[in-house]
Amino acid sequence: MLDSFKPEYLKYTAYLKKKTKELQHGELETPLGFWGGMDTFFHGSSDKLAFYYYSEKSSWKWIKYFTWLGRFPVDVLINLWNVFWGNEMFRTNNIPLNKFYKFDTDVKIPLHKRTNTRYITFHELDGIAHKYGTKSEEVRKEVERFDKILEKMKWDIIMSDHGMLEIKEFIKVPETEKCFIDSTLARYWGEKPKGMPASKCKFIKWKNKKYGDYIYLANPGVCFFPNYWQTNKVKAMHGYNPKLKDMKAFYMINRKGKKKNLTMEELHEEIT
Ligand SMILES: [Zn+2]
Repeated sequence: MLDSFKPEYLKYTAYLKKKTKELQHGELETPLGFWGGMDTFFHGSSDKLAFYYYSEKSSWKWIKYFTWLGRFPVDVLINLWNVFWGNEMFRTNNIPLNKFYKFDTDVKIPLHKRTNTRYITFHELDGIAHKYGTKSEEVRKEVERFDKILEKMKWDIIMSDHGMLEIKEFIKVPETEKCFIDSTLARYWGEKPKGMPASKCKFIKWKNKKYGDYIYLANPGVCFFPNYWQTNKVKAMHGYNPKLKDMKAFYMINRKGKKKNLTMEELHEEIT
C-alpha cells in the first residue's frame, strides 16, 4: 500500500509505468473520510468516517487524570496501552489535551489482522506530500525511491488509499465543547454550531451518527485550521469529495489486463 500515491505520479516511475502496459490497473475511488478506504479494501464495506468520535464511555476516559503531565508523556502512556493490547499506535497530535478523554478511537486493531494478507505500507509519501505539496521535487524523489524497491518485491496488488490536492485557503471554524475538527471535516455533536463559513464547506449526511450530528466537509482546497491534527499549516491535504480527480487513488493487480477504473468496493469484489 502506497499511502497517498496519485495516478499522476506514475510519470515518475519506471517499473510501475512499465507494468501498467500489461497488467490490470486504474484509478481507484475511495470512500469519503479518512479511514473507510482500507477498511473497505479488506472487508468489502465500511461506515468509518474518521479516527475519533465523541463518546461518554470512551476507552480513554482514564487519560483525564494524566493530562497535567503534558502532551509527550500522555502520548507515551497511550501507546504503552496500545502496545499492551496489540492496538494500532497513534499520537494525540493537536487535540486539546483537556478534551482528548471525551473521544474514543475507531481503528483499534490493525485492519488487515484476521485476514490472511501480508500487508506492507509505504507511508512516507503521505507526509512528504502534505509538507511539500504534490508537485514537489521531494515527492518525485520519494516515488522514484519506492519504485525501485517494488521492482524487487513479489506482490499481488499494489494500491493506494487516496489522492491529495493543494491547499489554497485556511479557514477557522467554530469550536464547541463537543466537536472534533479534522482538517477537511468539522464534526459537532449535540448542538448545531453557529457561524460555520457556509461558502467554504458543505453540510453532509453520514449514516452512522456516532461520527457527529452535524458534519461539514471543506470545499476542495479549503483546510480547516486550527485543527486537531496539524500544529503547522501544510501544503496539501486529502479527505475531500472522493469524486474529484485529484482525490483518486491508484491500484494495480498482478494479472494481465487493461486500464479499468474502479471504486474500492469493486476492487474488493475483483480480488475476493
Ligand atoms: Zn495524510
